[in-house]
Amino acid sequence: MNFIFSENFPYKHFTTAKSAGDMKNKAERGSFFRSLALNPSDLVLANQVHGNNIKVVKRSDKNTFIDNCDGLITDDKSLLLGIFTADCVPVLISSGNGEVKAAVHVGWKGLCLGIVENAVGILINDFCAGPKSVKVYIGPHIRSCCYETGVEMEEKFNVKLVNGKLNLSAILRDKLESCGVSEIFDVNQCTYHNEELFFSYRRNCCAERILSVI
Ligand SMILES: [Zn+2]
Repeated sequence: MNFIFSENFPYKHFTTAKSAGDMKNKAERGSFFRSLALNPSDLVLANQVHGNNIKVVKRSDKNTFIDNCDGLITDDKSLLLGIFTADCVPVLISSGNGEVKAAVHVGWKGLCLGIVENAVGILINDFCAGPKSVKVYIGPHIRSCCYETGVEMEEKFNVKLVNGKLNLSAILRDKLESCGVSEIFDVNQCTYHNEELFFSYRRNCCAERILSVI
């Protein structure tokens, strides 16, 4: 299988698997997209920097990389939004019937800097989405079974590590719920654990990336 998705998240989306190739590679990305009958030129991607900037993108941004950016939002249905990961959390968001959609790169730094609140804030304030209409897909990432971190994370997030491990998705869920979002669909896949299916930076220090698209 070349990709996974959540059956419950109501807007078209997927996260690529290792077998789809390295999505950072333009040629491999292009051939994978064409295999799904998607046009790779419809994609907007980001030069992700572990920050908290979100960019609202439009048709003229098609087939470009947005600089200094870890989240993309649009209400243009002709765009595909993509986020690269290899252990960080790919978060896809839609509101209503997908009138507005977002793709966000969430690592511990972005979580700390409030990128999740920024993304949901833009949906609610700039696109008038009701929090109850916002639905969130949490893609494959390094989970509490594998994500060993230093104890300084306890203070940053006001949580307790369990066996020295941090639970990113629990923190993410808390932040979403504080924004009034309750429809959260987690694919429950660990990138570090599932070597067959995903690239993992922690496991292999790899340069390859999977791509989550909405
Ligand atoms: Zn794991």
